[in-house]
Amino acid sequence: MTMITLPQLARASVSSLPLYAPDLTACAIDLSDNTNLWGAPPAAMRAIRDVTAGMIARYPSIYSADLGGAYLRYLGLGSAGVGIATGCGSDDVLDSTMRAFGSPGDAIAFSTPTFSMIPTFAQLNDLRPITIPLTAQFDVDAQRLVDARAKITYLCAPNNPTSTALSRAAVEYVVDHAHGIVVIDGAYEEFAAESFVGQVERSDRVIVTRTMSKAFGLAGLRVGFGIGSVALVRLIERARGPYKVNALAECASVAALDDSADGLDWVKAHVQLAIENRVKLDVALRSLALVALASEANFLLVPSARAVELTERLKSRGILVRSFANLGVDVPLLAESGGAALRIGVGPWPMLQSLLDALAPEIECE
Ligand code: PMP
Repeated sequence: MTMITLPQLARASVSSLPLYAPDLTACAIDLSDNTNLWGAPPAAMRAIRDVTAGMIARYPSIYSADLGGAYLRYLGLGSAGVGIATGCGSDDVLDSTMRAFGSPGDAIAFSTPTFSMIPTFAQLNDLRPITIPLTAQFDVDAQRLVDARAKITYLCAPNNPTSTALSRAAVEYVVDHAHGIVVIDGAYEEFAAESFVGQVERSDRVIVTRTMSKAFGLAGLRVGFGIGSVALVRLIERARGPYKVNALAECASVAALDDSADGLDWVKAHVQLAIENRVKLDVALRSLALVALASEANFLLVPSARAVELTERLKSRGILVRSFANLGVDVPLLAESGGAALRIGVGPWPMLQSLLDALAPEIECE
């Protein structure tokens, strides 16, 4: 009798998926994942220290209603029709949205290059990806996205890994004309000039995802949000399932959102610092002939044909950045480097100075 192998027993979409394995080489300075390199808000740390055994012994709240309410207040979105879903990171909200609306074989349309987990979640949910290159200005091609008539259209604003903003005109065109659900991923919105969270009041088919992992400094706790019409959010919660945000994460996140010097003020002050250091790093990189794309996030994307090699060199000097070997060459500014680029997270200036000091000899010996 021939036995069916385990990979054959698994769903094909699962067995063919590689494990997520970014380069996690331990380095003294890690600028690779766009998290808050200043740390976590002191109010969140205090809340974790004050956790009682009773809170840990029992299940957390089912859908984290208190936390959701605190986040909506932070956004200033009080209207009755707007709701919020929580999740184990915004990854969980994105995955749950695909599961809620995408039946196997349905299309999901998104621009390339964009957040690397989108094709992965699409595959896990047996969705059919329709990819459309960003325009030469790094905007989404709104007409082509709409013409794809996909069940789900994903926009990332600002976009990872390019760091660039999307135009309001393109986003609103997609929101107004898309055939199905529109996801606007705002993981880096705190660092951007414009917010798209108000789009949820324009259409009941829009879900804006946000996260505590970047500006809020709580990536290790895994908390994310989906804001949209109450009807939309309830469907996502059904797909998500109960108890996805743990008790520690919920109380630390509520504390970080508190309008106090150690909570929200701390977060806002460090967003400001990140924006200042982003501008300073951009200028310093230019003096090394490395020209980053116009960033509205807490990282810079630097096209360079030597990206992979430079990343290895930096690693040997104790600095980790993320390199991309081929982001596609449809966009002219990326075509010049053959699609290769370095993605550098912005943090406290001494870390960035170390990066610059390590890069300089590599560039000068060209
Ligand atoms: N969206 C974008 C654009 C991201 O870059 C990331 C994290 N790198 C996420 C979503 C997921 O973040 P999290 O699950 O930590 O909320």
